[in-house]
Amino acid sequence: MVCCKECIELLNDYLDGELDPKIATSLEEHFQDCPPCIAFLNTYKSTTKLCRETLKQVEIPEMVQVKLQEFLKHNIRKP
Ligand SMILES: [Zn+2]
Repeated sequence: MVCCKECIELLNDYLDGELDPKIATSLEEHFQDCPPCIAFLNTYKSTTKLCRETLKQVEIPEMVQVKLQEFLKHNIRKP
């Protein structure tokens, strides 16, 4: 069996499917008996999902876009 600390350390590999199947199974067994680790797993999942979605959407930082727009405005006004 794995302990809570090991669970947290193994979670990234577990979600990536890179964990040894035996360790993955004992991790799942631990989740069944440990509500705090399930809560952590769910939080971790939604956080990484959110990060990935955000990173995909924001290819150009907002600040760069604003500066670019300002730059274009100034150039258009200039004779
Ligand atoms: Zn635990």
